[in-house]
Amino acid sequence: MTYISNEIPFLDLVTPHLEMEEELTGVFRQALRTAGFIGGPMVEEFERAFASFCETSYAVGLNSGTDALRFAIMACGIQPGDVVVTVPHTFIATTEAISQAGAIVEFVDIDENTYNMSAERLRVYLEEECTRDQKGRPISRRSQRPVTAVVPVHLYGQMADMDAILSLASKYQLTVIEDACQAHGAEYFSSKLNRWMKAGTMGRAAAFSFYPGKNLGACGEAGAATTNDPDVARTIRMLRDHGQAKKYHHDIEGYNGRLDAIQAGLLHVKLAHLATWNAQRRDRAAEYDRLLRGNEAVKCPFEPSWSKAVYHLYVIQVADRDGLISHLNAAGIGSGVHYPVPLYLQKAYAGMNYRAEDFPVTTRVASRILSLPMYPQLTAAQQARVAEEVRAFTAKASRRPEKAKSAAVLAEVVR
Ligand SMILES: *Cc1c(COP(=O)(O)O)cnc(C)c1O
Repeated sequence: MTYISNEIPFLDLVTPHLEMEEELTGVFRQALRTAGFIGGPMVEEFERAFASFCETSYAVGLNSGTDALRFAIMACGIQPGDVVVTVPHTFIATTEAISQAGAIVEFVDIDENTYNMSAERLRVYLEEECTRDQKGRPISRRSQRPVTAVVPVHLYGQMADMDAILSLASKYQLTVIEDACQAHGAEYFSSKLNRWMKAGTMGRAAAFSFYPGKNLGACGEAGAATTNDPDVARTIRMLRDHGQAKKYHHDIEGYNGRLDAIQAGLLHVKLAHLATWNAQRRDRAAEYDRLLRGNEAVKCPFEPSWSKAVYHLYVIQVADRDGLISHLNAAGIGSGVHYPVPLYLQKAYAGMNYRAEDFPVTTRVASRILSLPMYPQLTAAQQARVAEEVRAFTAKASRRPEKAKSAAVLAEVVR
């Protein structure tokens, strides 16, 4: 959801592209002259460059982050009817990919400070909400089906607590597939490996989105899957291309999920800037932290010592979130909510029969979170104005009774 404003927009997708207009139009010219529209060197070169950026052995270019996640789940051998555990505080593409791979979605709640999967809730789920089969593998009490995978989402550009999740996964024989769609270049310090690890390298496979607003965005739809496993990479390549490794020899039934060459070429041009843009996003985040510090009414993002987040979004919490949106809007400042309705309260998932009380942290934060303008081109002066308006609103709001919606009210509203 984006609130349009002409003064400080929530997102600026025009300026960065104008700065690279020559290089980007060069990609179109090259594609036109070679008629290399599908596959070919532009796709392969981008895949090598993105794998190198992510520090993985393989990157497979795909038509979206959603397909990247779906194919990664399928290529990792998750079977129809298996349970895949993820978080309810994410974009619906995460659960669509799981369901559309034939698996059953089950949720565990998030951590209130990082907004990512709570490893503690995952432990409780595996120990208390599952039984075991003879081989010690977890069987969900909810669905009576085997739990075979977990999909942590590196939300807002910050990685989930991967050491803790991976150690539970290894204890319970689960495959870990990362939803890194918002986390290109994010890093996690693994105490176990004693080094910084990049998003997309710690699970068996990972999904990235190049939707235009992401830290690395195409000029259209695109995505990629990364892995260090040659078999997983090969299977994803087949899935994206009608199940064929050799033309018209279909080993499995696949999909049309390819990355087109023009998008690959455009992404390759933009990839050269990604490290700089991510560093600028971290600077902008530090500046917001500094400007908003000391305001008791605002909860700023929390970055644990093991995290180097790339701030796809800068998300704060306030009691009267909707009031702040209107106030910022009136001041000409765009903002967004990621996401206003938890997945278990979506109409599409009414059949899951979860209740708002099952995930108290997600339910609570969904009514309090707000994403402030965040992009490399944001200026210090613009940030100062945003912070000034946030301060003006919270100062005014502190003189009125709290208007925040309770969990029960939120649940009513979305039903
Ligand atoms: C954007 C996004 C996706 C889906 O990516 P598309 O390229 O739009 O298909 C999946 N998961 C998360 C967390 C995302 O933010």
